[in-house]
Amino acid sequence: MTREREVGRRRRQERRKQQKRLCRTMFALCLLAFLLGVLCGRLAFAKEKTVSGQEETGGEEDAGAMAGGAPGTAGGALSSGQADKADWRLTLVNASHPLEDGYVPELAEIENNYYFDARAVGALQEMLADGRKEGLDFWVCSAYRTIEKQTELYEDKVRRLEAEGMSRQEALSGAAAVVAYPGTSEHNLGLAVDIVARDYQLLDERQEETAEQQWLMKNCWRYGFILRYPTDKTEETGIIYEPWHYRYVGREAAEEITRQEICLEEYLGYESSQLPEGTGQGDTEAYRGRPDAASSAA
Ligand SMILES: [Zn+2]
Repeated sequence: MTREREVGRRRRQERRKQQKRLCRTMFALCLLAFLLGVLCGRLAFAKEKTVSGQEETGGEEDAGAMAGGAPGTAGGALSSGQADKADWRLTLVNASHPLEDGYVPELAEIENNYYFDARAVGALQEMLADGRKEGLDFWVCSAYRTIEKQTELYEDKVRRLEAEGMSRQEALSGAAAVVAYPGTSEHNLGLAVDIVARDYQLLDERQEETAEQQWLMKNCWRYGFILRYPTDKTEETGIIYEPWHYRYVGREAAEEITRQEICLEEYLGYESSQLPEGTGQGDTEAYRGRPDAASSAA
């Protein structure tokens, strides 16, 4: 009996030892996996930082992040020299790149009851404030528009064209030529703003002659903005020259786009916006000469 008990005791001891050894091995393996994970994460993060440019490290992070806590780049790593299409600041919206269904950014008010993407509103306010310090009199006349508002503008245009005697089909494509189809306007994205001179509020080419536009065209890149529809890029953007429509793309992209004198489509590597028939005339006709429609846009 005692010998059997002794044998049993030894076996139990042996089993416990084995279990302990197993536990230690498992623990060591887990620790190793964890350390490897951390190391890989760090490497990936460092790589992303180097390619996403100086802005996040030098600007927003040091300054304690911009309004709304801009998260820096949102997407994965990119190959050298290429724009990161997953970056929220570079979202392309045009006739062939409509917004995803139901997209609504987090918004913050700029002024005049107009709203902008909360992550970029700080940069916009800084730009306006700096220009005003130099005596310029900016007037924000459109910014974020809901899809509903865009639909309203579009349908209103269709109705007016039908009233002028067009068939339903003609009116539909005719309206698309002057009012961006709902979901294909940058104003639906929340990163576009129309700014005019207070003493010259017409949305036409002469807007570029105002001191306000001259200053904006020269300096907007410093704040991460670009003149989105330049005079010589109508074919690429599908939109007429609009010397009042500014788009936030972030400092790094804005600087590069301005330096190379290209448009966002080219920066992102698109040949052209591959427009469907009936577009190409701009997105502002709907409220051209109808300031009431513009002022209630947001
Ligand atoms: Zn606009």
